[in-house]
Amino acid sequence: MRLVLVGPPGAGKGTQADRLRDSLGVPHISTGDLFRAHISQQTELGREVQEYLDSGELVPDAVTNEMVRERLSQPDTANGFLLDGFPRNVAQANVLGEILANAGQKLDAVLEFQIDENVVVERLLARGRTDDKEDVIRHRQQLYRTETSPLLDYYSDVVVSIDAVGDVDEVSARALRALRGEK
Ligand code: ADP
Repeated sequence: MRLVLVGPPGAGKGTQADRLRDSLGVPHISTGDLFRAHISQQTELGREVQEYLDSGELVPDAVTNEMVRERLSQPDTANGFLLDGFPRNVAQANVLGEILANAGQKLDAVLEFQIDENVVVERLLARGRTDDKEDVIRHRQQLYRTETSPLLDYYSDVVVSIDAVGDVDEVSARALRALRGEK
């Protein structure tokens, strides 16, 4: 299964992606995690992207797209993947479309996590990652609204939406039901 997860920062995509990976048997590819790994390993790419992550800006598309292109060329993605945090704008979605078309593949679904922004601010402040400061969180939320949420129209024929408010097990169950086309 080839799946993209879309939802505002703090909606729980990463947590649910880890569970969906186990249920669906496909790798979880988080662009945020990939960037943070580069930063902690102090690679050149890590040095290049650090200030974007710290300020909650999007990393330039050229950098992000190449990193994803490379990741999707790895053999473990041949039978599917869960993309978490990519695409984050329509330009990235076009690039993903090209990568898949070249491989004769297409997305099976885009899973949307619906949650009120104000609910997640507290959650993120408690998580305490370096980019989880209130002004940076608000900025990431704003970028979600302006840059990322248009993807829900872009992918309207494959979007499956779930209520992301609830405990982790409940939300996982909803996600699996929704992906099976059940209510
Ligand atoms: P969250 O969902 O809480 O915003 P992520 O781990 O998905 O956290 O992303 C953290 C940061 O990584 C973003 O604020 C951005 O700087 C960078 N990033 C992640 N994915 C992308 C992407 N597809 N395009 C550009 N920047 C990205």
